[in-house]
Amino acid sequence: MANKVLVVVDYQNDFVDGALATPGADKLDSFILGRVKKAIQEDYSNIIFTIDSHDAEEYFDTLEGKRLPILHCTTRTEGEHCISVGKGARLFGKTGRFIKELAKSTSDKAKNAATRVGKSFEEEVKNWNFSVMDTAFLYDSELRVLRNNKTPNIRIAPKETFGCLDLSDYFQAQPDVIEVCGLDMSICVASNIALLRAMFPDAEIKLLVNGCGGVNEKANQGMLNWIESIQVDLDYSKE
Ligand SMILES: [Zn+2]
Repeated sequence: MANKVLVVVDYQNDFVDGALATPGADKLDSFILGRVKKAIQEDYSNIIFTIDSHDAEEYFDTLEGKRLPILHCTTRTEGEHCISVGKGARLFGKTGRFIKELAKSTSDKAKNAATRVGKSFEEEVKNWNFSVMDTAFLYDSELRVLRNNKTPNIRIAPKETFGCLDLSDYFQAQPDVIEVCGLDMSICVASNIALLRAMFPDAEIKLLVNGCGGVNEKANQGMLNWIESIQVDLDYSKE
């Protein structure tokens, strides 16, 4: 069976209706949630959410902050651990709530792992704390989220810049097919697809066009014109 992976890029409050709102991005919610459920039903080996995240105290010293002086997707980290996640950094809408519910139903093993880092899993998950969920996963790479006897391996991949350099670490197996959607298509979706193309040269990569959005219409079109050049397929599935 083909080993499939779904990658959802930066579908976070700040990019949908927050600091860097994208026109129409709220309308992608049903599509993205539908694809997440499909991936669970069809036993994809991974579902990966990249999460743009910036430390408010450091953002304006970065090149991104200098050229785009709008603080967004704030998180705070202490050492290795993410200790708080701003509203803007959390996953948007129905998709975010669905993942939160999944996190709530995570096995006892996950709760124990969260407790080991000194946090109450239920309490943290209530305000959608992806770091706890992923910290739990980090402690045990075999850990799965259990729901309806399905065992999707959902991973949250935080990143401080456009592309997530350690994205391949979140894959549990060599992928045959990688489907990608999210925001912003000419910036972070494009950056991560270029990385995936280099990381997995033999994988079929599909851009789920109806699950993508971006603020600059001209740049969106430019991305679509370019992406096929690196052998990425445009998939216009309606759901
Ligand atoms: Zn950013």
